[in-house]
Amino acid sequence: MADTYSTNKEAIGINRHNGKEYPGKQEQIVSKDLFDRVQQKMHRKRPSRYRHHNPIFKNLITCKNCGGVVTWQLQKGRYYGTCQRGSEQCKGRKLLREDKIEAEISQMLGKLVSPSQEVIEWAAQAMRDRHEGSIESNKQLYASIRTQLERIERMDSNLYDDKLAGDISAEKYEQKHQELVASKQELETRLSKIDNSLAEMLDKKLVLLELSQKAAELYTSKPPEQKRIIITKLFRRLEYSEGAVSVIYTNFSRAIAQNVQLTSTLLGGTK
Ligand SMILES: [Zn+2]
Repeated sequence: MADTYSTNKEAIGINRHNGKEYPGKQEQIVSKDLFDRVQQKMHRKRPSRYRHHNPIFKNLITCKNCGGVVTWQLQKGRYYGTCQRGSEQCKGRKLLREDKIEAEISQMLGKLVSPSQEVIEWAAQAMRDRHEGSIESNKQLYASIRTQLERIERMDSNLYDDKLAGDISAEKYEQKHQELVASKQELETRLSKIDNSLAEMLDKKLVLLELSQKAAELYTSKPPEQKRIIITKLFRRLEYSEGAVSVIYTNFSRAIAQNVQLTSTLLGGTK
């Protein structure tokens, strides 16, 4: 029953969701919640579900030689992958072993785990701070344009009253009215260009950062569907070439791995 993950009582860092902090005991819930959020935030490359034939790397590895997808077959309880395309270069290649690639993935996930939780929290805070400024100035710009739009609508309405009351001629009304319509359109265009996705982008990055710190541990105990989520979120691609698979980080993951290496060097150096 007890898997290593749920018995690990250590705090696992930034377990925040909607501003709430989760205590370490609820790690299991948090990890499920993390997956839900990862899926909610990122719909891209959602892995397919197969109940019976369920190799972990299904549709995840491309052949560098022909661009085809590596396909998997079960032999004596173990999945073997190969490029089935017709190309001569692809034929007769060594079979890939699922467990070997898993070992490579695990090793690369391990390189994402920071030896210092403080450094990761500091990075998360830096992301929040950077975004806060942009989000705040966007909000102010949005409010100011809304105010101008309301003013124009009031002017237009007054203008119409003036026309009805006979205070201005029909031609004068039409001319002024068209001017107001043009200003209104311009403001509406500006309004639509304000980027409202900034807050969402921040959430997405924070979730990825959290995932990067927990993935190495989660990976060992999760079913294929969740393994695929971890792989697709933290790696850009897995490429089959010369009988081996190269695993390539996303830019985000690579930046974390570099930071972790630097942190480790610094911590090691001061001991
Ligand atoms: Zn191929």
